[in-house]
Amino acid sequence: MPNTIDLLLKNHPDGWAWTKVRAGERLTLNEGVRLICEGDLSALGMMADYARRKRWGGKAFYGNSANINHTNECILDCDLCAWKRPFQPKRLHPEAYVVEGDDLIKRIDEAVRQGAWEIHIVGGITPRLDLGYYEWLLTTIRDRAPHIFIQGFTAIEIRYIAKLHRLTPHALLEKFQTWGLGSVPGGGAELFHPRVRNLIAKNKESAEEWIEIHQTAHRMGLHSNATMLYGTLEEPHEIVHHLDMLRNAQDETGGFLALIPLAFLPANTKLEGKVHGTTGTYDARIFALSRIFLDNFPHIRILWTYQGPRMTQTLLSYGVDDIGGASLDEEIAREAAGYSDNAFTASHLARLLAEAGREATPVDSIYNPAPSRQVLKQASASLLSPL
Ligand code: SF4
Repeated sequence: MPNTIDLLLKNHPDGWAWTKVRAGERLTLNEGVRLICEGDLSALGMMADYARRKRWGGKAFYGNSANINHTNECILDCDLCAWKRPFQPKRLHPEAYVVEGDDLIKRIDEAVRQGAWEIHIVGGITPRLDLGYYEWLLTTIRDRAPHIFIQGFTAIEIRYIAKLHRLTPHALLEKFQTWGLGSVPGGGAELFHPRVRNLIAKNKESAEEWIEIHQTAHRMGLHSNATMLYGTLEEPHEIVHHLDMLRNAQDETGGFLALIPLAFLPANTKLEGKVHGTTGTYDARIFALSRIFLDNFPHIRILWTYQGPRMTQTLLSYGVDDIGGASLDEEIAREAAGYSDNAFTASHLARLLAEAGREATPVDSIYNPAPSRQVLKQASASLLSPL
């Protein structure tokens, strides 16, 4: 029996793509490029929405998270970055910091008071911190707030910390797991194509090295996400190249849960003035194509801190099923004039979903149901007791 999309796309120039999406057939690289260049936006939206609904029906996911960006000191100098401060061996750069001592306890307690059920840890690449620091960071969170799920450390951090301490990434991840790490975030993937990567994140690890770390995590039973930074200097085929590498990697190890396309925020980066930020239609095209090209990724997530609440809600109709967490204390997007705002809470996210007609479903980073209100209330009350 033909459905509404069948009728609408029957004689449509993009009808060929709909035939494949409906049959669950994979798009080829060339077909992906054709859609991103010539695809009709409303047809792309319908196809992406179909693929999303087929997996998730009316459900959409959100979280309540806090960020701990434990240091902004970094030995690299990616053109895309507004947040890092340079590494100085003798003493910290005046604008650099490392989260230490009571500051960490205060941040954990604030997250617990706000009802957060997960913490995301991402930092710069620095030789200043030893393994004992990471053990302290993870175990302090784990012991102070056992109900909190910890997602942390991008692939380049894992590679660098492992190398610095003469460990394999596998051995480092084992230690991190023992200390409380629950999953690996998707950051640092940027765009895999070497031409663009060289322009925006020179000296960062290669695409293959990024994927190797994630596949190591997957083989250990850890889940991870992937990001895709778009809106810099890419050509359409370089977007599809990125998606294709992820799709192939996922076929091998199957541990990715979400793709998070990130709209580039040029403010305060070395690319400011050379690129001007994305447009709404380009955003919609990228998200829709991601959903229909990545047939083996369960979730397409948007971060409101990059896209703003309005676009976040709109892109729910272009393949998005997950709008991420509240992101208390998010600093990386904020430094690039993103939307980070501690006043925007998980209940605002739930409202965005409800208004869009979705069943707002609170989950942690690996899509386990969020802790009950009772557990969150008890955790907050226990902060009144001394350590
Ligand atoms: S993007 Fe990451 S690795 Fe690159 S300069 Fe910024 S903090 Fe360092």
